[in-house]
Amino acid sequence: FATTRLDRFIARNTAFNKSTVRLLLAQRRVVVNGQFANSIQQQVTPFTHVEVDGLCLNNHTPLYIMLNKPKGVVCATRDDRHTTVVDLLDHPRRDELHIVGRLDFNTTGLVLLTNDGNWSRRISLPQTKLPKTYEVVLSKPVTADYISVFQQGIYFAYEGIHTQPARLEITGEFSARLTLTEGKYHQVKRMFGYFQNEVLSLHRVSVGDFTLDDLAAGESRELLIAPAG
Ligand code: URA
Repeated sequence: FATTRLDRFIARNTAFNKSTVRLLLAQRRVVVNGQFANSIQQQVTPFTHVEVDGLCLNNHTPLYIMLNKPKGVVCATRDDRHTTVVDLLDHPRRDELHIVGRLDFNTTGLVLLTNDGNWSRRISLPQTKLPKTYEVVLSKPVTADYISVFQQGIYFAYEGIHTQPARLEITGEFSARLTLTEGKYHQVKRMFGYFQNEVLSLHRVSVGDFTLDDLAAGESRELLIAPAG
């Protein structure tokens, strides 16, 4: 049977990168066959019991879920004060899931969840440049000059970066559809903030090939796709 190094096994089954596994071990968050793990090079077989933060990682068949996130729900797996996206799922295996690309508290729309770390990393990697499309409602009229500014990129002083070329379609006097290939902190709000135009509502309609079908706010469904391997 196949053996795998512990760091690779954890990366494959969680949102943690291979390079952060050493830290998890130092923090005594990884238990292998009942003992705190002390080597990332330890070999894991299908019969080894591996837990991270108390969650057992073995024998997890891949699971992929799309959710239409309502307003006022946090993109986290646990939160003491607010409902989380995971709380909204009534899937029996929801505790295995991690979130692929978060939305802000008041942003609505498409959120992907999975237990397949290879798949979520591939989607989230900056090099993948996966397009993410948002429907935006604004406090002031959107004008055609936004299109070329967003296409050329905006300087974000805090990170010292220029945003990647983004595609803006004006859909109404106060509304637009924006497609980004990255996800900086509060990116959509900050891009419209460049024009002192406040985002009143933000709704993500697609991530790559995944589009919110007719799911109502708070509803979710399982995606039938091949594991990332
Ligand atoms: N940009 C934002 O400002 N918020 C989100 O939730 C997503 C993109």
